[in-house]
Amino acid sequence: MEYKDHSGHGEVSAKKRTAWERSHPITKELLDKGAQEFMSKERHPQIDQAFSPKVNCVCCMDEGTAHMERGSKLFMAGSGILYPAASWDDRLNRVADLFIDLHITEITSHDGCGAAGIAFKRDGREEGTGCRTADDYGKKWCSDLQAVMDVRLKVQEGIEGIQNVHIYEHEMERPGEFHIARVVWFDATGKFTKPDMLGEEIPKGFAINYHAFASRGMRDYPLSELEVAIKIAFSDHGFDKEFTKDHPFVIIVIAKDENQKKEVTELINGIIQGNDKISQFISRIRIDGFIHE
Ligand SMILES: [Zn+2]
Repeated sequence: MEYKDHSGHGEVSAKKRTAWERSHPITKELLDKGAQEFMSKERHPQIDQAFSPKVNCVCCMDEGTAHMERGSKLFMAGSGILYPAASWDDRLNRVADLFIDLHITEITSHDGCGAAGIAFKRDGREEGTGCRTADDYGKKWCSDLQAVMDVRLKVQEGIEGIQNVHIYEHEMERPGEFHIARVVWFDATGKFTKPDMLGEEIPKGFAINYHAFASRGMRDYPLSELEVAIKIAFSDHGFDKEFTKDHPFVIIVIAKDENQKKEVTELINGIIQGNDKISQFISRIRIDGFIHE
């Protein structure tokens, strides 16, 4: 999320404008048809390939990593760096438990991670963290986590354990300077793990696995990720003022049935309305959803 504008602000604005226009036709189709029709098998014959009940890799909720080809992904801001905990070590233990439970084999950090930026500020920046930059702090999180997981899994020396990969800006599905997310994929099925299988045929979006946490009594956590996603979208780092009533930022609830869609939509509505910092954007946000059985 660090705003690297080596060439002056004007050039970034122009690049952002181009990215917005490029994302327009597919997002307009979603807005016109509604998510249920837009995400149907008729429109996307390969849609089932975007779903998997198992995950192997953890990547950030950031659209730049969520839409990468990297197998079946558990989306989690900064690979868990913002997970609620009493301390760094407590967080490592809690996140390691979760990832081992899910049979995760690969964890990732990435350039310009907004979640690492939030954690860097939370923990006292350079002085408090001992890291020079937020990205370094994100990498430290993943290497500490890898070590804790390897110990838990009793990985012996010389044997390959958990993979820890840093994703560089040029590998990501967005420019380094800003976010291009038009939507949030808010997945209550826990199976929408490979949006990359739909390529350019769906809008890029932040991806949140509601089910993975809600099913473990941690419902508030994915909602806090949603709050982060909305704040980024409506900031300098996102499309911000490009979002209007007619071209809203869309939260797409992915549900297993009508009841779940209704329940999760109401929950999201309540979160947005009850939070001063994001309720101001409400007229430029649309909540939509689709059912995938
Ligand atoms: Zn990130």
